Amino acid sequence: SGPYEILGWPEFGEAARELARAVVRSGWVPDLVVAVARGGLVPAGALAYALGTKAMGTLNVEFYTGVAQTLPEPVLLPPLMDTSALPGRKVLVVDDVADSGRTLDLVMRLIQDRGLPGAGPAAPGEPVPVDARSAVVYAKARSVIEPDYVWRHTDRWISFPWSAQPPVTEEHGGTGK
Ligand code: 5GP
Repeated sequence: SGPYEILGWPEFGEAARELARAVVRSGWVPDLVVAVARGGLVPAGALAYALGTKAMGTLNVEFYTGVAQTLPEPVLLPPLMDTSALPGRKVLVVDDVADSGRTLDLVMRLIQDRGLPGAGPAAPGEPVPVDARSAVVYAKARSVIEPDYVWRHTDRWISFPWSAQPPVTEEHGGTGK
């Protein structure tokens, strides 16, 4: 234990396979995997391969600016994916963690709203629902939504392998790791 939950690359590989097994066991196979960028990009790619799903989309959301430092609201950033093809499809939304859960809540609402009257290819007044589910590597107890598929629960700050180190800079001359 300690203040951090550290996820390494090999453990992440196991997490992705276990999440995929949970999705398959539930008898639901997505037509499309949507990554919540940036944190959900690596998990979404790993899950899409593990599920054999080729179609992918991305929604960019910014909320955290540092460890436990947030903006007032999660905000969608460009480029915005075309959500018009979602009604009638099974969509798996993937993120790294549901912490406050506000980011995932925003994305799930946005995607499910595509099934409202006039939003999809259906005639106005004839909503075609989007069958959307969510998967995360971690969920915290305080999350406002419980994702459909969760690998582990924790209440600690998580260190993910893809963001454990600061970005590579010129100062290190490209010789450092
Ligand atoms: P939420 O909206 O659920 O509070 O969190 C949104 C995003 O903030 C997550 O997808 C993730 O990218 C980032 N975040 C939240 N909690 C943690 C954490 O414990 N560790 C890391 N590395 N990022 C987090």
